[in-house]
Amino acid sequence: MFDSLTERLSGIFTQLRGKGRLSEADIDATAREIRLALLEADVALPVVKEFIARVKERARGAEVSQALNPAQQVIKIVHEELVGVLGGEERRLNFAKQPPTVIMLAGLQGAGKTTLAGKLGRWLREQGHTPLLVAADLQRPNAVNQLQIVGERAGVEVYAPQPGNGVGDPIQVARDSIEHAKRVQRDVVVIDTAGRLGVDAEMMAQAASIRDVTDPDEVLFVIDAMIGQDAVATAEAFRDGVGITGVVLSKLDGDARGGAALSVRQVTGQPIMFASTGEKLEDFDVFYPERMASRILG
Ligand code: GDP
Repeated sequence: MFDSLTERLSGIFTQLRGKGRLSEADIDATAREIRLALLEADVALPVVKEFIARVKERARGAEVSQALNPAQQVIKIVHEELVGVLGGEERRLNFAKQPPTVIMLAGLQGAGKTTLAGKLGRWLREQGHTPLLVAADLQRPNAVNQLQIVGERAGVEVYAPQPGNGVGDPIQVARDSIEHAKRVQRDVVVIDTAGRLGVDAEMMAQAASIRDVTDPDEVLFVIDAMIGQDAVATAEAFRDGVGITGVVLSKLDGDARGGAALSVRQVTGQPIMFASTGEKLEDFDVFYPERMASRILG
């Protein structure tokens, strides 16, 4: 991820080395090149425009400094602005005062929700919680089974529909799972929901109903970082259709251009909270904007 962006940016900064003070023309040329590099990385146009405007303004206003030469100054500005588009500070999960905390996962089919449920379950358990995973994706034939497998690997109980408790009705499964969590004293409920291949009214309505009956503390929108330019429309649809409180980037280990990662915070207005970097349960961590920005700059 981001390899070509990193390479492009580093080429741009190299051209600035050895320059004394940056002229207006230097700043314009550099901004133009950074703009192109971001667009080629599939970052959404409105995000690129704002980013470039800020970088230009700050580069113009930068004081001549003893400590940093112009190239270093531009790198510092770009770094800080990257941290900004990635969300600034990391944001932690919002836990309910009265357990169970309810975390609902939403996103397109294949985004990585079921895998994430297992990762989150394992991570929560390591943090001393007693999570329950809930199989409310009854759309994909194998989803319940897949969740049971990841739950077992993560050492976390899975609540799945059985005859008499909501076979075919994800909303009932979700509602009942909260009661079950209270009964068996699980303090965090992670609800896996159904996605479709594309944004779909029925899927949104179902996700909204699950949200209404479970009153989640967090609705995490899971997005495949490889989806490129479709990221914006998808993120907007989930923001408007379900209402999301945070974002999880999955498949950051892929070799896509990474634009979704840089666009999604601004498009949704919600923080990126976790990152998934592989198929294994341990390929998962809290999202750190600062670290990601440093990685992009190489
Ligand atoms: P869901 O339809 O949203 O529940 O998506 P799944 O959890 O079933 O994931 C879809 C596919 O992506 C599966 O083959 C997963 O193993 C794979 N996958 C999920 N997360 C990641 C990730 O972070 N990196 C990679 N490389 N693959 C992932």
